[in-house]
Amino acid sequence: MSIETSIGLVSGQPYPYERTTLVEPDWRRFPGWRDVTDADWRSVQWQRSHCVKNVKQLRELLGDLVDDTFYADLERDQAERATMSMLMPPQMLNTIAPHVEPAGAGSLTEAWYADPVRHYMLPVFSDRRTDWASHPHSARDSLHEHDMWATEGLTHRYPTKVLAELLPTCPQYCGHCTRMDLVGTSTAVIDKLKFVGKPNDRIGDMLDYLRRTPGVRDVVVSGGDVANMPWPRLEAFLDDLLEIENVRDIRLATKALIGLPQHWLDDKVREGVGRVATKARARGVSLAMHTHANHANSITPIVAEASRAMLEAGLRDVRNQGVLLDGVNADPHALLDLCFRLLDGAGITPYYFYMCDMIPFAEHWRVSVADAQRLQTAIMGYLPGFATPRIVCDVPFVGKRWVHQLASYDEERGISGWTKNYRTSIEAADPEALVREYHYYDPIHSLPESGQAWWREQFGEAGLAAASLSAAQVAEASRRTAALQAY
Ligand code: SF4
Repeated sequence: MSIETSIGLVSGQPYPYERTTLVEPDWRRFPGWRDVTDADWRSVQWQRSHCVKNVKQLRELLGDLVDDTFYADLERDQAERATMSMLMPPQMLNTIAPHVEPAGAGSLTEAWYADPVRHYMLPVFSDRRTDWASHPHSARDSLHEHDMWATEGLTHRYPTKVLAELLPTCPQYCGHCTRMDLVGTSTAVIDKLKFVGKPNDRIGDMLDYLRRTPGVRDVVVSGGDVANMPWPRLEAFLDDLLEIENVRDIRLATKALIGLPQHWLDDKVREGVGRVATKARARGVSLAMHTHANHANSITPIVAEASRAMLEAGLRDVRNQGVLLDGVNADPHALLDLCFRLLDGAGITPYYFYMCDMIPFAEHWRVSVADAQRLQTAIMGYLPGFATPRIVCDVPFVGKRWVHQLASYDEERGISGWTKNYRTSIEAADPEALVREYHYYDPIHSLPESGQAWWREQFGEAGLAAASLSAAQVAEASRRTAALQAY
């Protein structure tokens, strides 16, 4: 990875800012979409029914523009490494290698291998590390959200805010998904946890908890992705939330604004957002949307149109929470390009970049805390303060910390120590909770040789133990804890 900044020739600044015009790549460059009309493209139904879900469908779309080696690489990843199943709406696929004109058999292979969006949405086997594919401390539910479920799917980790996982599906599946334990359909290597309660019962339990817990003022309405919840049901939930006096902030979490903006442009959804936003405003509640873009190429005119439609409908803000990923955006220019495209082009406020969590098979995406600190420093001063994203580490049992906030750091072994100033919902009686150091681990391949040797002595080379944890065992433990907390 390079955290170098080249000097811009014209501006003399390390990052040469230039305002860019958003462009929708022409989807007709792919053989399978040659006859797709503008009207089809704008239709959310067409987009949903033409998602690519397997290698066969990708081959039907691209034909021989991409070599067989790529398809075989993808197939092998699905069989041996993927923690998320394949699901890409056309809108998102169309942002892969957007400026490379096909010129016959194999002409897109190199560009597809190199592409940042492909790198995290369609991981191939050869992307992954072979030395330490998983960190020995990686875990399926690496943030221990299940352990902090106040009711099934309602994570109460911070004192005043909760995360409501309404459903376990999304319109698109990201290879690095931190909720890989729960979200999406099972893959060859990951048997997914299933919610036990019926959707309406779970939602009722969440609302009851919020009514009887006046200290909670902020609800992140998430999943999965709220764009997969039929709008009338989501609106009913939001209406119920707005009836709860202590709820002052509501944030709708949806990557679909980037991956399937057609959903948020649908007339019925726009009108519905307008109704809820009007009600929220009348009650003095701040209603915002949080989305998830990782690369500037994802920000196209239709994404900007959807974002502006949400602001026009009355949302207070649309904010971006990206994930810092090697091979995608772990470079100051890539981060700043994305932030300016979000801000200038789409009216989306850059907000956070999360370090990639310690889930199985994610080592090729993760960067060290030291690199994250260098990146944070490199992007300061270019964007307005309110739109300068904070790079944060989501430390297990702690929560988000700015990357410069660590309490200790053994850079040789890649072990950072973090403290916190609040108790999570499972530590009410723990006298050590506010003084203990909690650990996050850098990817082992990023360490000096002496540090790597230390890990080899502790765990052996493979480091796959966490990935082979039985889903049934993890699920059982989570359910037991959740049940205990509910009473
Ligand atoms: S949209 Fe979010 S929840 Fe869905 S797969 Fe991607 S990262 Fe996971």
